[in-house]
Order: sequence, then structure tokens, then C-alpha cells
Amino acid sequence: MSASALALFTFDSAGSATGYRLVDPAQPALTVTELAATRGDGVFETVGLHEGHPIKAARHFERFAQSVRMLDLPAQDWTIWDAALHEVAAALDLDPSSEGWVKMVLSRGIEGGTTPTGWAYATASASTASVRADGLRVVLLDRGYRHDIAQTAPWLLQGAKTISYAVNRSAYREAARRDADDVVFVSSDGYLLEGPTSTLVLRTGMTLRTTRTDAGILAGTTQAELFEWAAGNGYETTYELLTPADLAAADAAWLVSSVRLAAPIRAVDGTPKPVDAALTASFTAHLHSLAG
Ligand code: PLP
Repeated sequence: MSASALALFTFDSAGSATGYRLVDPAQPALTVTELAATRGDGVFETVGLHEGHPIKAARHFERFAQSVRMLDLPAQDWTIWDAALHEVAAALDLDPSSEGWVKMVLSRGIEGGTTPTGWAYATASASTASVRADGLRVVLLDRGYRHDIAQTAPWLLQGAKTISYAVNRSAYREAARRDADDVVFVSSDGYLLEGPTSTLVLRTGMTLRTTRTDAGILAGTTQAELFEWAAGNGYETTYELLTPADLAAADAAWLVSSVRLAAPIRAVDGTPKPVDAALTASFTAHLHSLAG
């Protein structure tokens, strides 16, 4: 069993991946003028693994393609990326009880060049079960954008999964300063948006509610999958402009994402919130069942 695995892609003159090779992840792989490193000019997907197998890979490739289009990066042959995803995941040879993830990155390449850079990196990771059991204390933080930013200023790339995550990391540090574990961003006009690496889901009775995907957020693959499951299991599902009052009044809330899955929110700005452990367990079971 290896703790990590890395595939580097090769590209044709149009910038589409033509193949990949597995390399030693401990060896240097990028040059210092790589635009991923110097400008954060690229896009990525992180895919959770269950028992060593990728969860909901097809949804990730759909969103990857959308991010590629939004950044004017070259169109890709996703069958090659999918083969690399599965190969690096298999190379981990994970013990069934161990968790892991694969991060796939496509950047604009080396400064002044014409070819993108792409890789898929798989790693074993610490267990995320405790966060699903214990829940998260979240704080609401102003994101400084109106909820309609994606329509009024599309060049800000809200809704693309770019590798420029310094702001998201900074928000986590602010949460820690406020003695919290995570963040829900709020638009400057007062609507709940998303977490720095997750989608907000509320339950009000038998309705699951989330932020409208056109409200300057990343469309979550985990939320989309859970809503499809919920619609087949007796729940209503809605996309809304949600407010802090909706979160306060909700019966339960989660931050959902591909590695941590559905993490229940147990406090908002210091006010305790009930946790729905039974539905959290159903969400986990459903997401695990998708690995393949
Ligand atoms: N929103 C943001 C900003 C994210 O970075 C992520 C995932 O990293 C999500 C939402 C959740 O997306 P997914 O469920 O596809 O992991």
C-alpha cells in the first residue's frame, strides 16, 4: 500500500490530454514558472474515495468541464482523465477501512507556453467519520459580493472551481479565531451562500433546501447527488435565496462536500443547533454506495 500516487498528463497541440504516466509523487514534478503555482490560474476537482473507489466520478467530470469552459482552458477528453483517476486511486491499494481522495488539476501551463499542465494526485487521508458524528460549529462571514455577482461580473469566476483558494483558507483561519470549525459565507445583500469548501443544505420538515446555484456559488456535486436521492425518498427539494433566519429556523443543517460528505452543523455563531444523526447516516450510506 502506498500513501500517495501521481499521474502526469501529456497533451496534444490543441491542449487536450492524450495520455498520462504514473510518476513518483515524492519527486519534483512542476517548474517554478508553472501558472498553477505562480498565479493560481487553473481549475481542479477533488473526488472522495470509498474503499479505494471514486465516488460519483461522472458528476465531477461534468463540473470539471464547466470550470474549463469558464476559464477558457482547452477542452479535454475526459475518458483519459477518468482512466487516470481510477488508476491513481487503485495505486493507493487502500485498506477498505481507510479513506482517501484524488485531486485532479488542469492549469494554463508554463508562463509563455502553449500547453496546459495536468495531474491527478491520490492520497490516503485521515478518517472523516468523527466530523460527521460530532458536527461543526460554524460562523457566518461576509463574502463581500452580492448574490448576483455571477451574472453582473462573470470575470470574477464565481461558480468555477479554480485553484485560487487563498481566500477560502483565510476564512477558515478567521473561523478558528472565532472558536469555530467552519464557515458559511453570506452575500453583501444578506443571503447565505456556501462554505469555503462545501455546500449548505437545510432541512425544514420533509424539505431539503439549498442555495440557488446561480447565486455566485460552486454547484456542489454532493448536494446534487443527495437531492436526487432525497427526491426519491419522500423529500421535497428546493433551490432558494436563503437567509440567516432560514438557517436559524431550520430543523437541521449540513455542510456537504466530496471528502467529508454530509457534516452536520451543531452551532451557528455560538447558538446550538440540533443535529439530525439519522439523516446524516442515510446521506453517508447513499454516498458510499456510489463508489465505483
Ligand atoms: N463549494 C466550494 C467553494 C467548494 O470548494 C466545494 C468543494 O470543494 C463545494 C462547494 C462542494 O462541492 P462538492 O460537493 O462537489 O465537493
